[in-house]
Amino acid sequence: MLQNTTTYNQNGELFYKQGRPHFFTKACVTLCLVRYKRNNAGAEFSVEFTKLSRAFQFPGKKSLHSEDMALSEIMRTEWTHGCAAITVELYSSFSPCEECCTLLQDFIKQRPRCRVFVAFTCVYRGGDRRHSCALQKLNGCSNVQLLDIFTAKEWRLLRDRQQLFLSPVAFHVTLMWDCYWRRKLIEILTISPQMAVNTGMVLGTVEPQTSDITTDGVSPSRRGLPDITDHYNFGYVATEDELKVMDDLVKDAMRREDRKHLILSVSLTVAIVAFFIYVLIHLV
Ligand SMILES: [Zn+2]
Repeated sequence: MLQNTTTYNQNGELFYKQGRPHFFTKACVTLCLVRYKRNNAGAEFSVEFTKLSRAFQFPGKKSLHSEDMALSEIMRTEWTHGCAAITVELYSSFSPCEECCTLLQDFIKQRPRCRVFVAFTCVYRGGDRRHSCALQKLNGCSNVQLLDIFTAKEWRLLRDRQQLFLSPVAFHVTLMWDCYWRRKLIEILTISPQMAVNTGMVLGTVEPQTSDITTDGVSPSRRGLPDITDHYNFGYVATEDELKVMDDLVKDAMRREDRKHLILSVSLTVAIVAFFIYVLIHLV
């Protein structure tokens, strides 16, 4: 049942607004659902947690991202409880950036039997070249079972886990943006089809997963190339005009973001130089 008003908590807000067309690049949230198998008894258990990164990025200094935090938490649990992750589901407000894609690939390489699902509400930095290449490589990993924009299933998951309730208007806007981001992701992943060989998203090899039971039981199938006319968006299809408007909004947002970074870098450099000049003057 749709709500008449849109309500969310802090995490829900990030999931809802990130890339629509806001880009809170200093903040990213990841909901992580992990299934572990104990090393000795073989018994399985599940753990669920959320990581929020709110970092102040000094130019040139990498901040800790929520995916990074989530993987560290999983490794900590494996170490302290003598178990191995067998299923990892990451639901993020951004697609993994280049650094997080590398971390995920390392994590996957060390756990060839672990199935990994990655879903996100928008593509980080609007899908610039650097982060797009990293997504293509991640998509080429054989045990990445899913790499996709949120569908009805994930929005339901957030409604249940993050108290994100969308009004009918917000719901409509969200569906429009999902169409936009899905198209963008397909463009990125199909630039290099040989890199996308192992995902159901592109070639249609993935069966519905047991992880679907983590939601309310309605599981849109992920088989086949995402068709923007199918059930992914409850049959909603954004028109070319709408997609063009959204693309302009994203490009504007990215330009604003770049400007902000530039102003910050210049201000910091000026402040540092001014400080050294001040020190020099007082020393001489
Ligand atoms: Zn990252």
